[in-house]
Amino acid sequence: QAKKGGRNTVHWYSSEITEQMNERVILRRELEGALQQDDLQLHFQPIVDSKTGRTVSVEALVRWIHPKRGMISPAVFIPLAEQTGQIIAIGDWVLREACTTIAKLNQTREEPLTVAVNISPLQFTRSNFLCNIEKLLQEFSLEPSMLEIEVTEGVLFHDEEIAIDTLHSLQNMGIRVSIDDFGTGYSSLSYLRLLPVHKLKIDRSFIHEVTESERDCAIVGGIIDLAHHLSLVTVAEGIETAEQEAILKQQGCTLLQGYYFARPMPLADLNEFLRHELNAPLDNPAPN
Ligand code: C2E
Ligand code: MG
Ligand code: MG
Ligand code: MG
Repeated sequence: QAKKGGRNTVHWYSSEITEQMNERVILRRELEGALQQDDLQLHFQPIVDSKTGRTVSVEALVRWIHPKRGMISPAVFIPLAEQTGQIIAIGDWVLREACTTIAKLNQTREEPLTVAVNISPLQFTRSNFLCNIEKLLQEFSLEPSMLEIEVTEGVLFHDEEIAIDTLHSLQNMGIRVSIDDFGTGYSSLSYLRLLPVHKLKIDRSFIHEVTESERDCAIVGGIIDLAHHLSLVTVAEGIETAEQEAILKQQGCTLLQGYYFARPMPLADLNEFLRHELNAPLDNPAPN
């Protein structure tokens, strides 16, 4: 129900919109608290080599563990945080946490495991973004190649010039960048010629029906071929079944990610997962 205002106030909000606004105001305030009370967590989802099935990288995905409401999806609070500017504080926290994790994960490993971090357009185009990253790499003594950055095509809409400059700077620093959710924006093909990026992550929506829809299958195959002609690494997100895995392997996709292999999980569980993997025989050893 719409709130009663002053005597001469005109009420044009429907109660539903008012409710949504209240909900957003509450979420926003609570998100402020979450940052102060350590209610954010990073989970990590393995990304595997399609030839060997072995984890080569993990994607860091933020979680908000709300004391009363339980886990709130980043799909809900990241867009909100982007609007309120809170994404900057969240993004800084995520980067620092990811760098801590890179150091921990690689203490005992022989083959390096990279950590990919999602960066929102606002954070990516901020003037101190590169400087922050440089400081973190130094503080944790990390090779730049251990940290990967995922951005969507949205960074180009946010500020094309700055975004392209930042991409070049990252490349010069030795930090690899992936285009996330590839295929869902609309300028996809023209900018591929220009941008110094390393990977394309094919959006989950194309993978979802890849076994039923000939069209989706053709699109996915086309993206993979195109990417490889441009010397880009391909990643398929959202693999949930063995059938989907088989098709993507057959199409030559480089890396695979999805619930079929592993869900995003806290660091302790990831360590357990990786330990298991190291002890398990390779089901499909790479040639040589
Ligand atoms: P994204 O970067 O495209 O991340 C992949 C999303 O797909 C994750 O959702 C992941 O849990 C989900 N996923 C992975 N495999 C499967 C699968 O097999 N099936 C299905 N149905 N889903 C799968 P999540 O964690 O809810 O994150 C949603 C989005 O929120 C992310 O999409 C990313 O855009 C954003 N996000 C998450 N963490 C961060 C962060 O730290 N910073 C920023 N800026 N954005 C973030
Ligand atoms: Mg991502
Ligand atoms: Mg994605
Ligand atoms: Mg996505």
